[in-house]
Amino acid sequence: MDTNTNVSWAELGLSKEMLELIEKEGYKHPSPVQHLTIPLALAGKDVLVSSQTGSGKTASFVIPSVERFKEKNGTYILALSPTREIAQQTGEVFAKFAKPFGMKVAVCIGGANMNEEKEALAASPHILVATPGRLCDHLERGNVWLDFIQCLIFDEADRMLEMGFAKQIDLITEQIPKERQTLMLSATFAPAVEKLARKAMNHPEQVVIQKTAETAPKIEQELFWIPEERKLSQLMRILRQEKGTCFVFVSTKEKTFQIARLLINKGITDVTYIHSDLQQEHRELAVSEFKSGKFRIIIATDVMGRGIDVDDVAHVINYDVPKEAADYIHRIGRTGRRGQTGHASTFAIPGKDDKSIEAISKLRGVKAPPKDRPAPPREARPRHHDQRSARPQTPKVVAPPTQAPKQEVIQETIKPGLMAKVKGFFKSLMG
Ligand code: AMP
Repeated sequence: MDTNTNVSWAELGLSKEMLELIEKEGYKHPSPVQHLTIPLALAGKDVLVSSQTGSGKTASFVIPSVERFKEKNGTYILALSPTREIAQQTGEVFAKFAKPFGMKVAVCIGGANMNEEKEALAASPHILVATPGRLCDHLERGNVWLDFIQCLIFDEADRMLEMGFAKQIDLITEQIPKERQTLMLSATFAPAVEKLARKAMNHPEQVVIQKTAETAPKIEQELFWIPEERKLSQLMRILRQEKGTCFVFVSTKEKTFQIARLLINKGITDVTYIHSDLQQEHRELAVSEFKSGKFRIIIATDVMGRGIDVDDVAHVINYDVPKEAADYIHRIGRTGRRGQTGHASTFAIPGKDDKSIEAISKLRGVKAPPKDRPAPPREARPRHHDQRSARPQTPKVVAPPTQAPKQEVIQETIKPGLMAKVKGFFKSLMG
């Protein structure tokens, strides 16, 4: 986590009690997204934040919303999350910062017990964290009203829209008073996100966290053009060479356990998997056993992988190329954290994945190796990070995606190249 902002928590306008909680949490300095977002959110403004998972974005909306409503009684804060796992993690962060003020948090997620959630809602929680589908179920049954909400938070808005929650989001937003604060966080500003922001937000301030190559995680990326039938043996080669933790992304739920089973049969047994049809408790167990190191390898789909907050994955393997180029960024963002060099390998099928690889290359500036020069087997390659530059096919290390600000954007650079607070962008778009 990059917290090198030379800013202290005390400068952000938070109460003494909140500062004590932050200290207790061990957060020494605010991260860039926190430094920029918290004062705006505290002032009651609508804020549109572009920031990746791992940047401290959750606390950037949890801390100011709790601070604003901590002395009030009623359900004032609603945070929408794309997946159950993210909702749970967000609920935990809210609990850390809100419970000491006597505030109650309810988390409503698919797969959990409906009656228990109904009871939690009936107890008038101060904060509600929910996935859009589940919240709509509760709304339909009359278990909850949203007339009191004064702070609406869309976390990972791009992901919620990609998952097809646009209709549910509309239904929910319609039931919330227009006079409210809206905070929207999104890794990318895809057109659908802009559309939602136009509809749901009122002249938002925009915070864009950009990282330079210097501060970005260093991720060595490589691409293997191989047919489907060679993927498993290539995966096994990588898993046997790589001693660290590995995150393997596949395209379907079925593949998660099929590949896990094949690997176990071939003697690679420190592997677990997660997909959305598993019961909640099994999913939680898989994640905790991966986090604790009991299993070194986890196989997941995009939806599931996104919610797993693990800081130092050594190697991300895209067994299947992601459907959306943006998912590539989310996936490989699991590695190369905490200033370490990460490693990402992608298996692409010639003739099938060409367009997707082209889209990823455009997004990331990655030079994909040409198909007629297939990547050599991994054993033939130098293994240590300091020797990797010798690899003939290693795409260059690139920075995470930056949202090229539009021309009319006024950019106030806080620290050159590291982050920018962009004002007026949406004002101009909204006319
Ligand atoms: P997030 O981007 O919200 O998923 O946060 C990623 C991780 O960073 C979480 O484990 C947080 O507990 C941690 N974190 C958030 N803010 C800070 C901070 N200011 N200093 C250190 N760690 C932080």
